[in-house]
Amino acid sequence: MARYTGPVCRLCRREGEKLYLKGEKCTGNNCSFNKRGYAPGQHGTAKKKISEYGLQLREKQKAKRIYGVLEAQFRNYFKKADKMSGITGENLLILLEKRLDNVVYRLGFGRSRAEARQIVRHNHIRVNGKKVNIPSYIVKVGDIIEVKGNSEPIQRFKDIVESTTSRIVPQWLNSDLTNFKGTVLSDPTRAQIDSSVNETLIVELYSK
Ligand code: SF4
Repeated sequence: MARYTGPVCRLCRREGEKLYLKGEKCTGNNCSFNKRGYAPGQHGTAKKKISEYGLQLREKQKAKRIYGVLEAQFRNYFKKADKMSGITGENLLILLEKRLDNVVYRLGFGRSRAEARQIVRHNHIRVNGKKVNIPSYIVKVGDIIEVKGNSEPIQRFKDIVESTTSRIVPQWLNSDLTNFKGTVLSDPTRAQIDSSVNETLIVELYSK
């Protein structure tokens, strides 16, 4: 699956808020958004009136960038969410939250979603004892997510875990950082998803 490989901090500046895409750097003094909190490009500091469509589009772009998903895949999530019972916008966020790379990040085994995705791709994660290297794998209630137990990655994960111990793990997950293990306790509810995304705007955009 293709992915965005350009400058990451530019995405935060484009969306006008910190999207926390780079792990530790995002909470430190070196965050580019703290220094240049305006849109990239020649006219980045110009004040622009944004249309309703523009607002909806930006919200969709923001969600895609936070979860590291490209357009076609994002649209597929929307179609799936639309077919599910309940509120489409909430279903969309719930599906994105249940991606394995996001779960690895939420559990504290990755400093950012990008790092978590790399960890999954590089075969370091097991789900219910089986190797899973697909970042878009959707976890289920009861799934046990573990870091693969061989010595080299474990040192790497010790370093990661040290920097994520203060992270608040959402209630739908249980994280055992000492044993590099996590469990999916339930499906997430919208209230349990720490995200500034206004999913209603995305639904409005795709419903046109
Ligand atoms: Fe965004 Fe993090 Fe870069 Fe700051 S450091 S601009 S929050 S990706």
